[in-house]
Amino acid sequence: MGTLFYNGKIYTMANEGEHIEAVYVENGHIIKTGTEKHLSNTFRERITKRVDLNENFMYPGFVDSHLHLIGHGEKLIKLDLSEMTSAEEMERALREKATTLTSDEWLIGEGWNENNFIDRKIFHRQELDDISGGRPVLLSRVCRHAFLANTKALVLAGITKDTIDPPGGIIVRDNNGEATGLLHDSAAELVKKAVPEASQNYLNTALKTSIKHLLSLGLTGGHSEDLSYYGYIERPLSAYRTVIDGEEIKFRAHLLVHHEAFEDFKNVKKEYELPFVEYGALKIFADGAFGGRTAWLSQPYNDAPETSGVSIHADIDLAKLVQKAREYHMNVAVHTIGDMALKQTIEAIKNNPAKEGRDRLIHVGLVDDNLIAEMKQLPVILDIQPGFVASDFPWLIERLGTDRIPNAFPFRRLIDEKLICAGGSDAPIEPVDPLLGIFAAVTRRKPGESHEGYVPEQKLTMFEAISLYTIGSAAAIMQEDIKGVIKKGYLADFTVLDQDLFEVSEDEILKSKVVLTIVDGDIVYENKG
Ligand SMILES: [Zn+2]
Repeated sequence: MGTLFYNGKIYTMANEGEHIEAVYVENGHIIKTGTEKHLSNTFRERITKRVDLNENFMYPGFVDSHLHLIGHGEKLIKLDLSEMTSAEEMERALREKATTLTSDEWLIGEGWNENNFIDRKIFHRQELDDISGGRPVLLSRVCRHAFLANTKALVLAGITKDTIDPPGGIIVRDNNGEATGLLHDSAAELVKKAVPEASQNYLNTALKTSIKHLLSLGLTGGHSEDLSYYGYIERPLSAYRTVIDGEEIKFRAHLLVHHEAFEDFKNVKKEYELPFVEYGALKIFADGAFGGRTAWLSQPYNDAPETSGVSIHADIDLAKLVQKAREYHMNVAVHTIGDMALKQTIEAIKNNPAKEGRDRLIHVGLVDDNLIAEMKQLPVILDIQPGFVASDFPWLIERLGTDRIPNAFPFRRLIDEKLICAGGSDAPIEPVDPLLGIFAAVTRRKPGESHEGYVPEQKLTMFEAISLYTIGSAAAIMQEDIKGVIKKGYLADFTVLDQDLFEVSEDEILKSKVVLTIVDGDIVYENKG
C-alpha cells in the first residue's frame, strides 16, 4: 500500500539544516516523516515497499522553473554547436553533418556562440553554401535571438535585397544591401517558416529524450514553453499526451501558453487534460537577449552606443496582452532581460494587476532601485537562471559597462528584498543540469575557474540556491503548499544525491551524482552505475 524511504539524510528544506531519516509515502503523497523505527512501527503492514537510501542524501524534487522541454530534446538529437571553441571546429562539424543528409535536406544546427572563438568569427552565407554543399542551412545562436542562414535558405524563405526588416527583427546586410545571412529575432521567422515541419514522431522522440535526460539529472518537473513553435498546437500537446504516460514516464510538466498559440489552445484544451501536465501563464516576450544586444535597455549598450536593444511590443500592445490574460483569469509570464523591458512590463502589470496567482518575470537580467521597489509592490515572482551568470560573464561587463554591472543578475539583492525567486536553466539555451545552476548561484563563476566570482557580493547560500529549484519553483505556480518541501501532505517527489550539498566544498558540488529520482512516490530514475 505504501513505501518507506529510510536510511538517508533527508533534508526537508522547510528550515535550513533540518533533516530526518525516513519518509512514509502512500498514493504519491507524504503521509509522515520521522525516524525509521517510528514510521515502521506506526505503519507496519501498510508498508508494502521499503527503499533503502543507503546513507545517501535526499532533497525535495528539483524542478526547473523555465525551460523548453521539446527544444532541449531537439538539441540532444540535433547537431549541437554550443560546446565548440573555434570556427574551424564548427565548420568541421557542419561538413560532417552535411554528409549524412540527402541533397535537399536542411542542415540545422543549434547553439553556436562566436564569443567562444578567439576570432569571434560569424560565418557568411556564402561560406555556408560551400560547407553545406548547397543544402539550405539554418543555425541558431546560443541565445536563440540570432540565426545564420545560407543563400539557399534565404531563397527558399523569399528574402531578397528588397525585403524590408520585419517588426522586431533585423536582416543584417553588407555595404551593397545584400543579406549576409545573419538574422536577428523575428527576421529569422521568415526562414524558419520555410523549414519543412517536423514529423509528430520527431516531436515525440525529442520530448521523450528530453524528459529522460531531466529525470537522470534529478529533475522531477519542469515549467516549459513549447506550444507555439511546432506548427499547430495539437502537435506539441499530443507529444505530451503520448510521452508522459504516467507509466513508463512520470514527470510533472507545467506548460506556459504563448499568446500566439492561445486562441487554438482555448479550443482544444479540454482534450488535453492530462494527469502529469498542467497549463499555466500566458507567455509574452518583451525583449531579446544581451548576447545579440537585443535586450531592451534604458541606456545604450556600452560597447555599441548606437543601440539600446529591441522592444517586441509597443506599450499599448503589451497592455492588451495582459488585459487578455486577465479576461481568462490567467497570469502572465513575461520574458524581460533589459531594464527597459522590465519597466514596460511592470507598467503593464501595474495597470492591470492579477486578482489571483502570481505573474512571472522571466530572466530579469538588469534592475535598478526603482524597479526593485516596484516589483515588491506586485504579486510577481522572478524566474532566474543562475547559469546565465556563468555564461554571460565576463563579456557582459563590456556590454553593460562597469556602472551597470552590479545590477545584472543581482540574486543576493533580489532574495534580500524578499522577492520570490524560482530557479531554471532556460534549456536548451543553457545546460539543464540543476547542479550547474546551484553551483553558479553559490560561486558566480564557471566550473573550472578559480576566481572569487563575478560580482561576488551577489552569491547565494547553498540553502537559498537549492530553494530556487524546490520551494521557489513551487511558489512560481502557487503550489508551495504541496511541493518544494519534504513534509506531511506534500507530494512525494524527491531527488537523491550521493553528496551532502551542505557539506561539500564548492568544487565538489558538480561531482555529485544522482542516485534516485522519485516522482509521485515511484522511482523513475535509478543510477545503476
Ligand atoms: Zn526561454
